[in-house]
Amino acid sequence: MPIYKAPVNDTLFILNDVLSLERYNNLPGFADATGDMVEAIAGEAAKLAEEVLFPVNLSGDQEGCKRADDATVTTPKGFRQAYDLYRQGGWIGLAVPEEFGGQGLPYVLHTAVGEYMSSANMALTMYPGLTQGAIAAILVHGSDEQKAAYLPKMLEGTWTGTMNLTEPHCGTDLGLLRTKAVPQPDGSYKISGQKIFISAGEHDMSENIVHLVLARIEGAPEGTKGISLFIVPKFILKDDGTPGERNGVTCGAIEHKMGIHGNATCVMNYDEATGYLIGTENKGLNAMFVMMNEARLGVGLQGLSIAEIAYQNAAQYARERLQGRSLSGAKNPDGKADPLIVHPDIRRTLMTIKAWTEGGRAFTLWTALKSDIAHRSADEAERQAADDILGLMTPILKGVLTDKGFDHAVMAQQVFGGHGYIEEHGMSQYVRDARIAMIYEGANGIQALDLVGRKLGMNGGRAVMALFKEIGDFCEENRSDEKLAPFTKGLKKGLNDLQASTMWFMQNAMAKPDNAGAGSTDYMHLFGLVVIGYMWAKIAKAAEAGLAGGAGEREDFLKNKLVTAKFFMERLMPETALRKTRIEAGADTVMELAAEAF
Ligand SMILES: Cc1cc2nc3c(=O)[nH]c(=O)nc-3n(C[C@H](O)[C@H](O)[C@H](O)COP(=O)(O)OP(=O)(O)OC[C@H]3O[C@@H](n4cnc5c(N)ncnc54)[C@H](O)[C@@H]3O)c2cc1C
Repeated sequence: MPIYKAPVNDTLFILNDVLSLERYNNLPGFADATGDMVEAIAGEAAKLAEEVLFPVNLSGDQEGCKRADDATVTTPKGFRQAYDLYRQGGWIGLAVPEEFGGQGLPYVLHTAVGEYMSSANMALTMYPGLTQGAIAAILVHGSDEQKAAYLPKMLEGTWTGTMNLTEPHCGTDLGLLRTKAVPQPDGSYKISGQKIFISAGEHDMSENIVHLVLARIEGAPEGTKGISLFIVPKFILKDDGTPGERNGVTCGAIEHKMGIHGNATCVMNYDEATGYLIGTENKGLNAMFVMMNEARLGVGLQGLSIAEIAYQNAAQYARERLQGRSLSGAKNPDGKADPLIVHPDIRRTLMTIKAWTEGGRAFTLWTALKSDIAHRSADEAERQAADDILGLMTPILKGVLTDKGFDHAVMAQQVFGGHGYIEEHGMSQYVRDARIAMIYEGANGIQALDLVGRKLGMNGGRAVMALFKEIGDFCEENRSDEKLAPFTKGLKKGLNDLQASTMWFMQNAMAKPDNAGAGSTDYMHLFGLVVIGYMWAKIAKAAEAGLAGGAGEREDFLKNKLVTAKFFMERLMPETALRKTRIEAGADTVMELAAEAF
């Protein structure tokens, strides 16, 4: 049976030692997040993840969701009870401002505990996850009446949320969207059309479902300029605010799919359903982007979460499974064979996942902290600088951590040999679940294009220049520290490759955009290596400081950090040179063959 233990110590080390959370006490909500409080919250979240969500993960995968002839959808056994405990714990509103019924705690803390929930049960965590995204969109773009009508129940989790963008002929290219909205005399709209692949579109866990739906108002311009966003509740609210008449939105089918079987992926049919405009007419994509950006960080976190749980199981299996002898002499001489963990290739596999996952955790929390600063700082310059980095990091975090999440689930499965391929150990579920994160919320190729096509050049390259300076300054400031030299040297080399590739795009992609498209995925991964390398250099610095100050019980933990940091710099960081070479090869061979030649 699979195991899971939330990595609370690692989270606390990153929050306290690497990111120095206490330095941000001036931000609203941060003063409440004292060291003890953060530790207690992480501990409670770990308990919920390990004892409530995780026990129904494998069974949820096996059972899946079922749609009955009356279009109702049932979630797997135990999901409803587990979800009730999740929502009753107040986890949905952890970082939502208190004035709307949330707890107003830092988003970085919400992100930290979100990792545990997704590791323990990604399919189940998507129900509240989508609700959180919908809450964010209503908070930013909803009217006061809409906030009052929907947010309290969504924060409680008694109503859940969804996001409805995709249609059969329209996925990435939302300009093709056909769902239409017809204005009514009372100010509402009648929404008609079909949406597909809608996560948590219909289920039995909440009293109402608040669908956020993109549609085109009759007569609006074609393309993305004519798209508006609507709230379409499953049950229309009565005058007293409670759910009343059933709205004209139903689940036409649930998709049979590769993974996340516990999450209902629905075809949603809108037949003159009553909808209410959110924000301004034809500006629906702006409003939906609030939800999508939040969701992109959440999906990146899913990649990390699945890699973590797959790794934990692979590490345990490698310690227990006896096969072969160590190349350097028996390590288990009394046994018939040594455990897998003695073999260098198994260790390389585990170290690779470990180095990416621990570095990825720091990257995710560092980015979430930027979101806190961008939304809560009183200083406009500080807010803008943080928002720049958040925008730049969003496609990298989503694209890199989910590509790696899948790769690492496969690598962890490989540690089990044939036992990973059969269902018994649960490794197949991690591979299947991890795969979707590379696709939804903008397939990873689109994240890479967003990075090179939009984010790099934004505001004259302000964000990228600021980040290059920050990393360069870090290397410079720590250059003379002998203990940190192995880390700053590796990081500087990676940064040089990234800067050279950025320059190459500037010189070669303006006149020939295919050069940017052909190099975009390599560039996204090159950027990911450098940012996670930066995290490892920061981790190494914090570990050295901890050891110098008398580490006590944490001595092994901190020394292990230094070894893993070194592994990252020796074995993973050098990939920046390969990525740069590929980028500089340009688009010619990629574009040369005729379509029929493929
Ligand atoms: C399980 C599941 C859950 C989902 N949940 C939701 C949900 O809750 N709400 C929702 O609205 N949608 C949801 N989706 C839909 C998902 O977001 C889309 O599948 C995704 O955005 C891609 O759209 P598509 O499938 O139509 O692929 P397409 O847009 O047809 O793209 C196919 C491929 O071509 C690439 N591509 C497309 N255009 C370009 C371009 N211009 N340049 C380079 N490459 C390009 C893409 O990267 C992709 O790899 C879900 C999908 C699944 C499978």
